[in-house]
Amino acid sequence: MTKNIKNGEYASIGERLGVVEEYLPDKNSTYADKGVIYATRSGRIHIDSHKKKISVKEPDESKRQNMKIGDIVIGIINFIRKYSVGVQVYIINNNVKFYSGYLGNVHVSQISKNYVEKIEEAFQKSDILRAKVSKLKYNEVDLVTDQPNLGVISADCSRCGGPLYLIKRDLLKCEICENVEKRKLANDYGSVKTRLIF
Ligand SMILES: [Zn+2]
Repeated sequence: MTKNIKNGEYASIGERLGVVEEYLPDKNSTYADKGVIYATRSGRIHIDSHKKKISVKEPDESKRQNMKIGDIVIGIINFIRKYSVGVQVYIINNNVKFYSGYLGNVHVSQISKNYVEKIEEAFQKSDILRAKVSKLKYNEVDLVTDQPNLGVISADCSRCGGPLYLIKRDLLKCEICENVEKRKLANDYGSVKTRLIF
């Protein structure tokens, strides 16, 4: 059996949503093949429990500007500069906002309570990060990760791409090539259940 789909969860194009015995597929956002319903667009799953109708809604553009100081966001590091990293924000306060349009910056001084000399000792490109909004600009926000619950929540080996497991605080080891890497980790690194693959 496949996992149960929940109202409000994020669905990717082509994702299996259920079967026609359970739901009435929406023509604009799903299709049924051999009794199985699939998403034809990415977005949030909407189940009308009264009519048993299932559909996929596009991300709500009108809510896009709602980011506030203090919000907790999750994003992927997409570039590293000398004194900061750029984060593409995907999730704001547990709501999946696919392509939120927000770019977050974490300055080297805002990574940790401990001194971080080089960005690469805390973050690597493609790490998934949880951070807090500290300053708003137009479509760009400043983020901080200097608290125990903030930092990298998922990372791959920068040498071979293998999975990294925790060996001690802020230190990870690759399961495949045994490379040891430093990160500023969130205290729940490795046990985050949020869907992180977009
Ligand atoms: Zn490796």
